[in-house]
Amino acid sequence: MTSDAASARPDPTAEVVDLCRDLLRIDTTNTGDNDTSVGERRAAEYVAEKLAEVGVESVLHESAPGRANVVARIPGADPSRGALLVHGHLDVVPADADEWSVHPFSGEERDGYLWGRGAIDMKDFDAMVLAVVRHWQRTGVRPPRDIVLAYTADEEAGSDYGARFLVENHRDLFDGCTEAIGEVGGFSYSVNDSQRLYLIETAEKGIDWLRLHAKGRPGHGSMVHDDNAVTALAEAVARIGRHRFPVVVTDTVRAFLEEVSDLLGIELDPNDPETAIAKLGPIANIIGATIRNTANPTRLAAGYKDNVIPGRATATIDCRSLPGQSELLERQLRELVGPDIAIEYVQRQPALETTFDGDLVEAMSAALRAEDPGARPVPYMLSGGTDAKAFSQLGIRCFGFAPLRLPADLNFSALFHGIDERVPVDGLQFGVRVLDRFLRTC
Ligand SMILES: [Zn+2]
Repeated sequence: MTSDAASARPDPTAEVVDLCRDLLRIDTTNTGDNDTSVGERRAAEYVAEKLAEVGVESVLHESAPGRANVVARIPGADPSRGALLVHGHLDVVPADADEWSVHPFSGEERDGYLWGRGAIDMKDFDAMVLAVVRHWQRTGVRPPRDIVLAYTADEEAGSDYGARFLVENHRDLFDGCTEAIGEVGGFSYSVNDSQRLYLIETAEKGIDWLRLHAKGRPGHGSMVHDDNAVTALAEAVARIGRHRFPVVVTDTVRAFLEEVSDLLGIELDPNDPETAIAKLGPIANIIGATIRNTANPTRLAAGYKDNVIPGRATATIDCRSLPGQSELLERQLRELVGPDIAIEYVQRQPALETTFDGDLVEAMSAALRAEDPGARPVPYMLSGGTDAKAFSQLGIRCFGFAPLRLPADLNFSALFHGIDERVPVDGLQFGVRVLDRFLRTC
């Protein structure tokens, strides 16, 4: 091959910027309602087209009109090995243009960042994977084992029309997949100028959303009344909202805290992890939510007239359970609300936890160190949920690894679902280089 031909090929670190911009410009807002969610199909078709351009065949599955998912398999050198699933969602949470410095679907490049809803959650990773795969196809690179690519819909509203739909209806697409990477992990947290933690997600809290139902005697608001559903519900909600569940440090969180304390020179008291966590700055919010079960009241509903005591009242509680704690949390909540309030689960998805060891973890760590000599990869637990919950139902060992090097002063966690979501262009390009190395050695 002549050097002319080589230079005519787009560099994946240049192409990733175009791919990410294109994806950001497709409004894939997921409102949680099929009638008003838009754009997933267009984004899925875009991905399928970009794969087809370089000879990768994909299948597109709609779970409902417009709710599209794309899956492709890239054959590896050793088909006897289990496949690696690389997954990313294409939907985004809504954005109010009036609140933003740029239009949230403009994909504008400004001050070294690409701006737009989805820039870090997670069209950045979607674009990185596309850039690497396209580069490989053009240059004849074959991965060491099969890689399955899954671009999903509906992650932001519980995955029913995305990952869960695929797992329940098209599980053959994931035949042989043993491990997976997706969001939310692989991003850097600067300790100082020369050292950066890279948080690799090895655990996720469970989702336990429940509705409380209180019943009482309906009546006139002007009279003495001792069986008021609103009062009973309000008491239960307040007890839950004020309750602090006990601290439980899991293996993942312990490993994280030990590494971080060592690096920062913080004294870690195993009986009081909160003191150490408080010193972590912007990531204290993320880590602080992973040492206990949590329960936050989020919605209330009762009544229809100012002077009528309603017979029923309901509240929604967003609970998140540590690995293995969902049943315990349920018992704790029953105790808090008392016998007269009924508990109904509206969403219950298990927590995940895997160990931070093995060849795949080695490959992630080596790829990070090769591109950033100051990298210190650490495991951590995500307090939220991702598509990994669905894919883990297939027995797949899931990691959050969407590599991104971030500027020290960027409050990364605030950008998730936040105003002025943006991704640093050099971070995006760093991610492509890390992913390229990692996937060649996975
Ligand atoms: Zn996401």
